[in-house]
Amino acid sequence: MKKFIYADNAATTKLDNDAFEAMKPYLLYEYGNASQPYSFARPAKKALKEARKIIAECINAKPEEIYFTSGGTESDNWAIKGVLLHNVKKDLITSEIEHKAVLNSANFIEKLEHNVKYLRPNSKGIIDPSNLEKNITNNTGLVSIMYANNEIGSIQPIKELCNIAHQKGVLFHTDAVQAIGHIKIDVQELGIDLLSASAHKFNGPKGIGFLYIKSGIDIIPYIDGGSQENSFRGGTENVASIVGMACALKNNCDHIDENFAYIKSLEVEFLKSINGLNFIKNGGQDTLPGNISISFKGKNGESLLHRLDLKGISVSTGSACNSSTMQVSHVLRAIGLNEDYAVGTIRVSFGKENTIEEIHYIANELKKIVNG
Ligand code: PLP
Repeated sequence: MKKFIYADNAATTKLDNDAFEAMKPYLLYEYGNASQPYSFARPAKKALKEARKIIAECINAKPEEIYFTSGGTESDNWAIKGVLLHNVKKDLITSEIEHKAVLNSANFIEKLEHNVKYLRPNSKGIIDPSNLEKNITNNTGLVSIMYANNEIGSIQPIKELCNIAHQKGVLFHTDAVQAIGHIKIDVQELGIDLLSASAHKFNGPKGIGFLYIKSGIDIIPYIDGGSQENSFRGGTENVASIVGMACALKNNCDHIDENFAYIKSLEVEFLKSINGLNFIKNGGQDTLPGNISISFKGKNGESLLHRLDLKGISVSTGSACNSSTMQVSHVLRAIGLNEDYAVGTIRVSFGKENTIEEIHYIANELKKIVNG
């Protein structure tokens, strides 16, 4: 039988079994609309309340600060447009290495004559807090810097960046889609005003996420509709997915240290196993556990991906093939990676489900392909 090894956990993760079981009753029996006043809808309403409380506890927020959305993309759009489209301070500072959900929201407001500054990271993909400080003006209304990068796994000094924004009276948003459930996040300790999350990156279902909005933050609704989510985000709640998201997040957060240590040990073993190959590991050493972006000089990432796929291994590439040319990703460009290496980049991302045997298999197949 053909082997199948999933090593693209930064793209999405396998649904947690407990989350699946927790979701089932709300798909099959407890399907009442949580907005209805009759008793049949009560379990759905209760489930939403409980899920909000569980999620809030995982990040040390208050339940009323959690707003359910359709995922990371919507949360990012809402944070940026919801704050800046009605603010007298209209400008945004973000980074060059954000996910497209942030970059394209930034492009959108730029067309409406908001100024946007894109901070360049250093070669490890880290934003220098002093650079942020220099770029804040009297018109800056929001700083949006991702917690951890989805391509190279670099982790930002969020507390420092947030403090700088606050010292200048500016709100701080972080896209924590890759980080939450994998590294500890305490919104009060960090001082964050807005945080985006997506369930499918932490073993929850797809198409569901949340935006943390600190109490008292001035933000307008992004989706106008009914009175759900305190009239801030209309639309009948996706109760089953919300329940699954809360369960998956709690399971991950309850085991965060052991998962971190285990996934990091897989990463160390993988890098040791491919040690003989000539490659650069992007993002330095202190990256998100298991998020490994590696670049091979003179190779083609797309071809590495397909040859690994033939061996039953799913990984991702750092560059996209555009008919005859390779387009280097905006992240690899921003960190200044040499083009010869950049086009030969793959991202291997491990999760808690991966085993040491799988890691050895991937390393061996990769060595054969790169040397072959
Ligand atoms: N932000 C980051 C950093 C991501 O990695 C992703 C997903 O790849 C998103 C936002 C978008 O999240 P979603 O797929 O839930 O819309």
